Amino acid sequence: MGLEEKVPAGFALGTVEKIVGLARKGSVWPVTMGLACCAIEMMAAGTPRFDISRFGMEVFRASPRHADLMIVSGRVSHKMAPVVRNIYDQMPEPKWVISMGVCASSGGMFNNYAIVQGVDHVVPVDIYLPGCPPRPEMLINAIIAIHEQIKATPLGVNREEVARKAEEAALAA
Ligand code: SF4
Repeated sequence: MGLEEKVPAGFALGTVEKIVGLARKGSVWPVTMGLACCAIEMMAAGTPRFDISRFGMEVFRASPRHADLMIVSGRVSHKMAPVVRNIYDQMPEPKWVISMGVCASSGGMFNNYAIVQGVDHVVPVDIYLPGCPPRPEMLINAIIAIHEQIKATPLGVNREEVARKAEEAALAA
């Protein structure tokens, strides 16, 4: 009897997915995406006092092609929105987005012609982080939460495609 018959169906792939999920969550590479004052707290999260390297992600990448996490920290101006989208599009799948602070999540206090009223009009968001600004500990908490999403992401799934279909379904309902 071959190994395939002895092992329950889905066992091998499930195990590989778990290993890949653990590896992915332990090595997240965020792209540099500081847009306003929230970015100061994001940068503080990388200093020795808060030390996000404990979570396998101390290196912010200058190239989106090397990154799998976008932390949108600060308000998104309409002028900046195409740039945010362009950088997001250049990140390889699978990729995740944290919207850091009320301005990135909803426009915050800037309810005016210049500011996008939530970065989810531009890119799909996985975690919304409240606060003005959120402290580094809050960002670290969001990172720990996104680790769980990363760990649970199946292999070969295009998350952007899934988000787009969910959006279309919500609009059709
Ligand atoms: Fe600045 Fe507050 Fe807006 Fe963050 S949420 S970008 S700290 S005004």
